[in-house]
Amino acid sequence: MSWEAIIGLEVHAQLLTQTKMFCRCPTRFGEEPNTQVCPVCLGLPGSLPVPNREAIAMALKTAHALRCTIHQTSVFARKNYFYPDLPKNYQISQYDRPLATDGALDIEINGTQKTIGIERLHLEEDAGKSLHEGFPDSQKYTYLDFNRAGTPLIEIVSKPDIETPEEAALYLKTLRQILLYLGVCDGNMEQGSFRCDANVSVRKKGEPFPSYKVELKNLNSFRFVQKALEYEIKRQIKMLEAGEILTQETRTWDERAQKTRVMRTKEEAQDYRYFPDPDLLPLKLDEKWIKRVCSTVGELPAERKARFIRQYELTAYDASLLTANPRVSEYFEKAVQHVSSPKRVANWLTSELFRYFDFETGEPPETVPPEHLGELVRLVEEKKLTGSLAKDVLEDMIQTGKSAQTIVKEKGLEVVADPETLRRIIRDILDNHADKVEAYRKGRTKLFGFFMGQVMKATRGKADPQTVQTLLKEMLSSE
Ligand code: ZN
Ligand code: MN
Repeated sequence: MSWEAIIGLEVHAQLLTQTKMFCRCPTRFGEEPNTQVCPVCLGLPGSLPVPNREAIAMALKTAHALRCTIHQTSVFARKNYFYPDLPKNYQISQYDRPLATDGALDIEINGTQKTIGIERLHLEEDAGKSLHEGFPDSQKYTYLDFNRAGTPLIEIVSKPDIETPEEAALYLKTLRQILLYLGVCDGNMEQGSFRCDANVSVRKKGEPFPSYKVELKNLNSFRFVQKALEYEIKRQIKMLEAGEILTQETRTWDERAQKTRVMRTKEEAQDYRYFPDPDLLPLKLDEKWIKRVCSTVGELPAERKARFIRQYELTAYDASLLTANPRVSEYFEKAVQHVSSPKRVANWLTSELFRYFDFETGEPPETVPPEHLGELVRLVEEKKLTGSLAKDVLEDMIQTGKSAQTIVKEKGLEVVADPETLRRIIRDILDNHADKVEAYRKGRTKLFGFFMGQVMKATRGKADPQTVQTLLKEMLSSE
């Protein structure tokens, strides 16, 4: 009988609030260490936490987008553990009464839709950061930076509905995309604002749920998540087939060794001694406020993709590319405004301009605002610029920040479509190649391409190909 994997994912996403979860310290990334701190986020005695309304609103929007049941009353709890980057020795989180439960996220796998359940979504605060000098070879000092301590997080826990590493990666990509659309998280995995832990176990098909699970921690890219899961599934199957018993443990992905390794086993497992935080009242939300916040959730990725296919007559593939990031789709919609063929804009964007976008953030190239791309496409549509010269113009636009029209004017690249001018040019060429003209008339019609090339050369690519074709045919057959 064959094996199957059971995978559940836990995502921590930093919320894009101006200030921290329980104090007014700013959440800016990359500041001088320990400059964005106060008695509350440093856990000094006597300081009192006050929940951040904006963070709660962002968590609500996410819960709504993930089709969760939102609970009007939830409870902040202390999760106790001792670690140097956690100044209070507990993290304020939510435990048995989270903000939201029982949601769903649809992923698209090989053209078919699969729904992954969401177990829960809750609010909590981030820890600080430890910086190890000389790690791992000659560890001398550990430095602590509390700027991140107290940054608002949402934790989103999936149900164990994920069956393959590929599905896990798709789930994460789809979830990240939704958070970007909601504007609640920047989704930056490298900087740790979107982090993932995975739980994985295997069983033979039809057997009951396994009694163990392995937790994979610190998987800081989509690729690592997929690789770690692939490796772990193989490892577990191999051990079970050898008759060994697997136990609860926490492992991490070792990119250098290309395998997972143990961080801690069940014997050292944490007991967090959760209890309701006595400094914080239960979080009771006004029903009308919940409704109002949820009503601000705009178009989500799947809806936008469907609309792009419908409204702009794009292929599903192009629509996926253009809606993968909300900034890219906004750029596209601005660029198509004064253009008659959105499909053409989509082509220019995906085949020529995409490589100048920031892949992580979807940030467009500074030098080419969407109106400029629209104008370039319009010049081609109106036959004022040939397709091949348009590529050079785009390169120029990227380098200089000038508009297409300006570059065309400055460089004299306007299409030559005036029949009189073109006739004169063709006349000269035919006169200079009398032998070839004769050969053509005797049946070597392949020479047509040669004449076309000569006209293009003479006009430095600016001649309107269709006009040239018509004129050439006419002038070659006459006389
Ligand atoms: Zn603070
Ligand atoms: Mn957590």
